[in-house]
Amino acid sequence: MIKPLDHILNVPVYKPGKPVEEVKRELGLSEIIKLASNENPFGCSLFVKKAVEREAVNINRYPDGGAFYLRKELSSFLEIDENQLIFGNGSNDILDMIARAFLDKNSEVLMFQYSFIVYKIVSLLQGATVKEIPVECDFSRNLEKLLESITDKTKVIFIDNPCNPTGFANKKEEFDEFIKNVPDNVLVVIDEAYFEYAKEHGVPDGLNYVNPINPKIPRKNVIVTRTFSKAYGLAGLRIGYAIAQKEIIEILERVRQPFNVNRLAQVAAIEALKDQKFVEFSVKENEKGKEFLYEEFEKRGIHFVPTYGNFIMFKVDDAKMVYENLLRNGVVIRPAFGLDNYLRVSIGTMEENKKFIEKLELLGFKCKI
Ligand SMILES: *Cc1c(COP(=O)(O)O)cnc(C)c1O
Repeated sequence: MIKPLDHILNVPVYKPGKPVEEVKRELGLSEIIKLASNENPFGCSLFVKKAVEREAVNINRYPDGGAFYLRKELSSFLEIDENQLIFGNGSNDILDMIARAFLDKNSEVLMFQYSFIVYKIVSLLQGATVKEIPVECDFSRNLEKLLESITDKTKVIFIDNPCNPTGFANKKEEFDEFIKNVPDNVLVVIDEAYFEYAKEHGVPDGLNYVNPINPKIPRKNVIVTRTFSKAYGLAGLRIGYAIAQKEIIEILERVRQPFNVNRLAQVAAIEALKDQKFVEFSVKENEKGKEFLYEEFEKRGIHFVPTYGNFIMFKVDDAKMVYENLLRNGVVIRPAFGLDNYLRVSIGTMEENKKFIEKLELLGFKCKI
């Protein structure tokens, strides 16, 4: 049998949340609640659906590789130059471009323990060495520790802020200090997939490091990645983007596949951006769901990590048992990668949140107060 490159076999395999169709098929269930992939439980903007229908007649034609209209719309929305943007087939595509453009077997990559697993995958695929910085026992992350771990070989630092799966985020003041002190030969990737959910809670806006507004924080090599998969509700279309200095964007453009973002995704993203009301609604409902779940966890003595995203990580004695039992009851959540006693639940509609709690109750997690 033909063999791949040696290092490929040591790369962890990404395990997605189980798709609804698969659970239905395997367990013979007709009603499934999926709280496993941090998707928007409210769907997406109605304007998006209309635009996708309109665009369907053109799918025999290749998409615009440069995403002309979307670029215009997004650059004016973010108030940045058009040449500071690159689009990806999901922001995962951009993480992969970053690894391909900057990493090889001589490079070292830094990230915190329990970061989004894709950073490790794309880095190891390039043959790079990955160093994971331990988090504190409450899952908080010490950015000074990260600075101290930088060596001459460090090329890229990946930080998900907020972090998936823990939900933790570093505050603006900590990040200011970190960026100020990061060396000029290191590239910092700030993954802001949950920015829309987190931005009112004291987290930094990475754009302010790409285009510095504070004279005390000089410009460093920073790439901010964001996505339409979460608050905008377009996970199934696959579209994300990155913001950086134009020189860095030019480098990434060299490794981007020519037609990486499809037609439907481009028109959908334009309409999604224009409908900020839908995003605001989603964020507000997420806050309500978060408070509800916090309260229900507290009542039942279930330990959880306060979250800045649209998901909550919580602790149980036997995570595998709880996960499988919920699955059999038609509620799909997610084991927290690398954390044996923890599970991650996405915040759903209030109806879904209540169903999830009901099923937990059936497993013996009764109210203690
Ligand atoms: C969901 C998520 C993404 C988004 O990936 P897409 O490819 O844009 O769907 C990126 N980073 C983190 C940390 C995530 O949780």
